[in-house]
Amino acid sequence: MIDAIPKTEMPAEPGAARKRKILVVEDEFVNREILTAMLEPEYEVINAVSGADAEAVLRRLAGEISLVLLDLNLPDRHGLDILREMKEDPRTAKIPVIVLTSDKEAEVECLNFGAIDFIPKPYPIPKVVQARVRRTIELSEDRDLIRDTERDHLTGLYTREYFYRYAAQYDVYNPDVATDALVLDVNHFQMVNERFGKQYADEVLIRIGRAIVALVGASGGIACRRSADMFLVYCPHLTDYQAFLDAIVTAACGDDKGRIRIRLGVCAEAEKTVEMQTRFDRAKIAADTVRGSFTECIAFYDNAMHEKEIYAERLLDEFQAAIDGKQFSVYFQPKYDVRPEKPVLCGAEALVRWIHPELGVISPGIFIPLFENNGLIRMLDRYVWRETVLQIAEWKKKYGRTVPVSVNVSRIDMLDPDLVETLRDLVIKGGLDFGDLHLEITESAYTENARQIISTVNSLREIGFVIEMDDFGSGYSSLNMIATLPIDVLKLDMVFIRSVFRENGNLRMLKVIVEIAETLSVPMIAEGVETAEQLNTLREMGCDMVQGYYFSPPKPAVDFEKFICDRLSTGKPANV
Ligand code: C2E
Ligand code: CA
Ligand code: CA
Repeated sequence: MIDAIPKTEMPAEPGAARKRKILVVEDEFVNREILTAMLEPEYEVINAVSGADAEAVLRRLAGEISLVLLDLNLPDRHGLDILREMKEDPRTAKIPVIVLTSDKEAEVECLNFGAIDFIPKPYPIPKVVQARVRRTIELSEDRDLIRDTERDHLTGLYTREYFYRYAAQYDVYNPDVATDALVLDVNHFQMVNERFGKQYADEVLIRIGRAIVALVGASGGIACRRSADMFLVYCPHLTDYQAFLDAIVTAACGDDKGRIRIRLGVCAEAEKTVEMQTRFDRAKIAADTVRGSFTECIAFYDNAMHEKEIYAERLLDEFQAAIDGKQFSVYFQPKYDVRPEKPVLCGAEALVRWIHPELGVISPGIFIPLFENNGLIRMLDRYVWRETVLQIAEWKKKYGRTVPVSVNVSRIDMLDPDLVETLRDLVIKGGLDFGDLHLEITESAYTENARQIISTVNSLREIGFVIEMDDFGSGYSSLNMIATLPIDVLKLDMVFIRSVFRENGNLRMLKVIVEIAETLSVPMIAEGVETAEQLNTLREMGCDMVQGYYFSPPKPAVDFEKFICDRLSTGKPANV
């Protein structure tokens, strides 16, 4: 037998399954021969005849060895020393070790040093040795597998699934310890990636992970990387969160302070009856309240947030009943053509209201974002479009003609492959012309998913729909992009108008926007116009249409009808 010559270096037989490698550290020739004979049918056996030999093999093949069989009495070293060194070295710490010994006394000591099992000398019958070896390797591989799925590869923190499991376990063993659920989220992590490169960004995440463990690990806290740049921490209640966050940010940036901002949401000392995941959802809600803030980085989940959450849950729960019970009502807000001396009604926007039997009138600003988060918006919008089509058809029938009405198409609707078909069917079934129903699509939808949105919008325009770009000025479309977008009308965002007319407001921007609309040869509507001053300025600048409280708030259909009657009484054609 040639010792310490790794058989891996021998060419494997073609097609042969790779055998697992076992290192036998044993100085006695006969013992080596016996063990090798027992194991060789199933494993590739590498022999080492001394401590130095064993070390050399481990240095070279640490990652490939499935098991070490270790004799305690070696000519140059004591087996226990080798065992200890193996366990201290991260490259070899995970390799299971079975000790070969005739010394009963040594067994406990070996276990303490991390041996996993024994094979007594003289050796038992081959079957027993083989069974122990097989079992040990299996157990160790299972454990590695768990470790792999349990840990995030980049930071070494727990993965989400295991994190929640261990957090729950923490509560079982520590029912009386007050604990906090924390969410840490790196602000604009994408920007960090883009500006400083992926390697730097990864390094930041690793440092954050390490800092968290250093801060809460000793007290039994655990952490996980929830998604790319979001960390969850579950730990005994902390008192100084500013110090906690400062320490993490410092660790993350090193000397480049200010490169990284992290927001921290805390759900502190929740009742243990509150589900683990709920506590983290709450911490996340808190963290999101300081998302865009430059001054605040830390937020605590509080009563007001709780009330809001309960309210939101109630709305979600009652959605279906509200649809069935026709609690959603479509209001109409007039749009005026302000080019003539006397402004003329030229259209309307359909805006939904929830007339709740107990909560009163609920504004869409509250429920639309909720429904957008979970897809219910698609059902609601279809409902609103249908009601709007029916209403327009009724007016057309009653008055012979009417003004076009625009409906809002959520960015979520834009992802629906049946959208074009649905809208076309609605208009045809309602007996309308495509020009009767305008579609408002928010600017941010275009920037989020440009290619797909543009192709959908093109299909809609080909059929004959008029597309109004909503909330223009609030998104971040570049001028280049705007120039290539398929749109028929620009609706200037209300927030933007507000900022222009505020004290020391900047009229320049408004001028630029009006010029853009002119260059694109599309009409422009200003939204949220409340005063005569705003109206006049916009008019002077060349804005074509205006919608806002100055003329009228959104009104129920019966009330809006008056605007149509007035308009028709002037005898002019009502379409823009
Ligand atoms: P939006 O599409 O930008 O609609 C304009 C909002 O401005 C409406 O709020 C309208 O009532 C309000 N508004 C109009 N003129 C003035 C004014 O002079 N001053 C002020 N302060 N506000 C004015 P509303 O009706 O609360 O709707 C809020 C948002 O909810 C809408 O913003 C729209 O994004 C969404 N929304 C409304 N109805 C629907 C719908 O049926 N489907 C979808 N997907 N979204 C809708
Ligand atoms: Ca709108
Ligand atoms: Ca708008």
